[in-house]
Amino acid sequence: MNGIAAVQGRIAAIEARFGATTPAAPTATAVTSTFDSAPTASPAGSFGTVFRSALGARDALTPAHRLAPGAYGRLQPPAELIGYGNGRIPAGALTSIGDGNHRLHAPAARAYEQMIAAARADGVDIGITDSYRDIAGQQRLAAQKGLYSRGGLAATPGTSNHGWGLSVDLDLDAPAQSWMRANGPRFGFVEDVPREPWHWTYRPS
Ligand SMILES: [Zn+2]
Repeated sequence: MNGIAAVQGRIAAIEARFGATTPAAPTATAVTSTFDSAPTASPAGSFGTVFRSALGARDALTPAHRLAPGAYGRLQPPAELIGYGNGRIPAGALTSIGDGNHRLHAPAARAYEQMIAAARADGVDIGITDSYRDIAGQQRLAAQKGLYSRGGLAATPGTSNHGWGLSVDLDLDAPAQSWMRANGPRFGFVEDVPREPWHWTYRPS
């Protein structure tokens, strides 16, 4: 099929949905405008929402339950990674999140990228300082920061949620911390360790 025709068909389908959900928007105007002008010719928020739902249905999010940070219990390691062992996952079995060398288990990586994009759309900047942590990294951190069980900030090496590619340590100012608390669970990310407001783990319910 002709590529341009395919794109035009796609746009028409999206515009039709847009017109259906917001009767005030003149569909004919939106159709004649193209990629460049359509979002500004229409309310950007609703156009974006329809556009995402039309193109991104396969990336449907699984939200997480909201519990107190200490109430989540033991993490269930991903079935496809469990054979490697905590902190022993080859780089190729994880997914880059496009920010330095940071990697996560694929579903967590996808949800993370959607979450960061949503924050950015809200004008909130979220930095990242750590993600997957291999066993050597866990040992180093335990030596530097002490074991959590003894008042420090490091998990016993071989047990960290970072060792399954499910946790991130974020660099959050006050507005970003509030944004994460309000929105993180929508993307499956929760604050699951008391005393570590920077530590967020992908725990979709
Ligand atoms: Zn952490």
